[in-house]
Amino acid sequence: MNKINTDKLSIAFRDKALCTRSGTCIGVCPTGALSIGKDAYPEIDADLCTECGLCAKTCPGGEVNFKSLTEITFKHQNIAESFDGHIQRTFVGYAADARMRKGGAGGGVITALLWDLLRRNIVDGCIVTRMNPDRPWYGEAFIARTYEELLESQQSKYIIIPLNAMFKEIRKLPGRYAMAALPCHIHGFRLMQRHVPALTNKIHCVIGLFCASALETHVALEMMQARNIDKSQVKKFDFRGGKWPGAIRAILKNGQIKRLHYSNFKDGAINYLTYLYSPFRCQTCIDGSAEFSDISVSDAWTRDEFGDYVFDSQSKMLVRTHVGMDVLNGATESGSLVVQDVSQNRHYQTHKLHTKKKGLTAPIRVERLLKKGKTAPKYDKPLPPISRSERIGERLESLIMSIGKKRSTRFPMFKFLTSRYGIILVKIRQYVKSKKYRRK
Ligand SMILES: Cc1cc2nc3c(=O)[nH]c(=O)nc-3n(C[C@H](O)[C@H](O)[C@H](O)COP(=O)(O)OP(=O)(O)OC[C@H]3O[C@@H](n4cnc5c(N)ncnc54)[C@H](O)[C@@H]3O)c2cc1C
Ligand code: SF4
Ligand code: SF4
Repeated sequence: MNKINTDKLSIAFRDKALCTRSGTCIGVCPTGALSIGKDAYPEIDADLCTECGLCAKTCPGGEVNFKSLTEITFKHQNIAESFDGHIQRTFVGYAADARMRKGGAGGGVITALLWDLLRRNIVDGCIVTRMNPDRPWYGEAFIARTYEELLESQQSKYIIIPLNAMFKEIRKLPGRYAMAALPCHIHGFRLMQRHVPALTNKIHCVIGLFCASALETHVALEMMQARNIDKSQVKKFDFRGGKWPGAIRAILKNGQIKRLHYSNFKDGAINYLTYLYSPFRCQTCIDGSAEFSDISVSDAWTRDEFGDYVFDSQSKMLVRTHVGMDVLNGATESGSLVVQDVSQNRHYQTHKLHTKKKGLTAPIRVERLLKKGKTAPKYDKPLPPISRSERIGERLESLIMSIGKKRSTRFPMFKFLTSRYGIILVKIRQYVKSKKYRRK
């Protein structure tokens, strides 16, 4: 980069590994100097940059200050102690509309909340995502304004999507909007709220998704290559298609459905993907519950004593702000959403594995890297006391994830794990888990 002082720019231009690829810098830039480039990193047109520094100030990559995000969101500075963050009430539920419930990753709750805001004219559009209609192995953000468009946005796309780049369009449009976003998108949004309130005032509410990790932008392409699928024949790519909890599959132009893994979704496919295709910035991200949303939504992976899921096709909602409470009450009162209040029931706590991975293992990794003088995002959240075995666990997980750095190691590994031969490992995992549930 010549001419421009990179300290004025978002982290991607100084330390690419720390870029979340949230698209915040692209959305906030007042001159349109930034756009989405290769692998969803921002690209700059140096002639348009005025070095205003806004993209650096709102970048959620290099540093996440929980105290100031708490202040912007909740108007106080008490960082939440629990992994789930500040919560007013907790619900489980599902979309009342049968198509919406069936089409959702969980209970179609996010879409039901957004649809309710649209149909009651509280918002004019919703910032959401879909797989690109022409290149369905890549994700993209768009503004949904109708019921059908919202149905198109359903499902989790476990892939990096620079959602906040949509603010480049929002800036030119009249009206009010709602958005569904991952934790890093929300960090960027809250920083924009501080630095460019005129732009973020157009957002009525932010619905957050729990997030273990997004996956590299090439993940869908590599999955199809592993199963010898010609991408030119692919019409649609689903990360969670079919009956809940769904399967990763490619739908061909001739209507054939090609499932991309033999084992089930939760214990097999997604589990392996988050080890092999997780970007470095996701491996060092410690907000797994979308702490700064108005309402956070997660899968309701709650199990009974035999280890079977209690809630098929339902989602869990953590309501955090009064805006979130109004949105949820509006949706239940108008019949868009069916909910059950589980605030007092300890069985609905976020499951241990997610809490451990993002609330403990990732912070240990960050601390270790920073101590060694290596690159990692900076956080102001204090680390809890850590045992020796937890430190060893982090090293082991980091070692496994390092296999994902090179295609030459990750591709054959992924191919094996998702093949018929990999099922034996999944069976072992399921057996160990079922023992654990029966012991409880
Ligand atoms: C990358 C990723 C990681 C996740 N990790 C976890 C986890 O560890 N634990 C857990 O409980 N839940 C996780 N979720 C959330 C979960 O998979 C469901 O999305 C959530 O429960 C909502 O389901 P729903 O049926 O209510 O939503 P739906 O009605 O299916 O709507 C889904 C909404 O999510 C939005 N969305 C989908 N993908 C993206 C994306 N990449 N970026 C931004 N927005 C997106 C869509 O635009 C849509 O508005 C994750 C989701 C994603 C995308
Ligand atoms: S004009 Fe401002 S926001 Fe845009 S790239 Fe330059 S410094 Fe960043
Ligand atoms: S793990 Fe963190 S950085 Fe990665 S997509 Fe999720 S919220 Fe963003």
